[in-house]
Amino acid sequence: MKHFPVFLALEGRRVVIAGGGEAALAKLRLVLKTEARITVIAADPAPELESLAAEGRIALIERAMEPGDALCAALFYAAHDDDAEDARTAALAKADGALTSWVDNLENSQFITPAIVDRDPVTVAIGTEGAAPVLARAIKADLEERLPAALGPLARIGKAFRRRAEALAKGRKRRDFWSDYYFRAGPEAMTRGEAAVEPALEDLLSRHLAEAPREGHVAFVGAGPGDPELLTLKARRLLHEADVVIHDRLVSADILELARREARLVSVGKEGFGPSTPQDEINRLIVAHVLAGDQVVRLKSGDPTVFGRLDEEIDTCTEAGADYSIVPGITAASAAVASLGQSLTKRERNSAVRFLTGHDMKGFAEHDWKALARPGEVAAVYMGKKSARFVQGRLLMHGASAATPVSVVENASRPDQRILATTLASLPDDLARAALKGPALMLIGLAPRAAETIISEEIAL
Ligand code: SAH
Repeated sequence: MKHFPVFLALEGRRVVIAGGGEAALAKLRLVLKTEARITVIAADPAPELESLAAEGRIALIERAMEPGDALCAALFYAAHDDDAEDARTAALAKADGALTSWVDNLENSQFITPAIVDRDPVTVAIGTEGAAPVLARAIKADLEERLPAALGPLARIGKAFRRRAEALAKGRKRRDFWSDYYFRAGPEAMTRGEAAVEPALEDLLSRHLAEAPREGHVAFVGAGPGDPELLTLKARRLLHEADVVIHDRLVSADILELARREARLVSVGKEGFGPSTPQDEINRLIVAHVLAGDQVVRLKSGDPTVFGRLDEEIDTCTEAGADYSIVPGITAASAAVASLGQSLTKRERNSAVRFLTGHDMKGFAEHDWKALARPGEVAAVYMGKKSARFVQGRLLMHGASAATPVSVVENASRPDQRILATTLASLPDDLARAALKGPALMLIGLAPRAAETIISEEIAL
């Protein structure tokens, strides 16, 4: 971060703007929102400046800037649409001790003015350190749309009501009250005029005080394969509302970012052959939080109903009388097959697809190998990295062609996704050579649709 954002108290302080044209006016309109004492210095001021001076809103000095003009100024803007004059006046202002900014000249500015979303007293400042003004504008437009126009007055009225709201228990109770105010009751009352807002707050407070606390609940949520954009809207909302997020190690950091800052994040890592939290311990943890009244998100990679030991967790909840729901997610097989440009099913090739696990509690998992060995069959093998040789042996033994295509997708949907395109004959050797470290899904019977050879060369096997 090259520029540190701060909110400067400008009440009663001096701000000097040098320049009398469009650039100066643009900055002036922003500074006029504050309670600063503003001086504009311009040899040839625009008529708008003259009238602002006549109204007493700015002091106007109608000449070129001179040494001492920026004395005691907190901020100085050089805004001439003329580089030489900007350089001259900025040097003068610096000598006078002001923090200076040249309009549209990042390198020579001591500070820059962010894009601003103004819902006074709520102010959002957006900066890109000059890298992408277009992006700043897009973010601004997005926020302008999302933040209720009446947020300013709502925040002011809300602030005065904070003490009263302390009657509600700290934490979720109070948060629910404020979110109800800002996003529902407040804007609704505002349509009847500002005077309707305070009575609406009173009303809302008595309703929230009377309400029984929300019961604890656990949502078994699918986090998808890793790309945060592959989360469902529901998953996003629940993550945002959760008091506690109990997540697998496979869930990516980008997704955990979506939880509230105050939420407790508990990692109950389970890695195929690595360190893991015993399932009983996970079950116990979920139930304890739900019974304590927490809104729990049990976040599982992919879809929670696919190789996720979901039933064991649900059974424990049912036994303990803990309320639960299931939110599906995109399973790894869907993300992996998408990366190949293929479908899981295809007319006249395969009318069924199987999701297999490479190993189960007893070791390598047995399957209907005879059926899987038939030409055109497609199977998605989860947790299959270690079982490649076993799977290969079983399939060949049951008559599968050695040339059957096999694709292994590591880190599907993530920035470090890799695709290994091989055949049943070379699978174990290619896999060993590729030394995949991330989660990988094996698709038997499918090759990448395009440029197969390029893909396998690219990963330099
Ligand atoms: N519930 C998950 C699967 C959990 S089992 C789902 O629906 O996807 C864990 C296995 O899923 C891993 O061993 C790996 O085979 C697969 N997997 C999970 N995320 C993956 C990813 N991003 N890319 C490839 N495989 C993944």
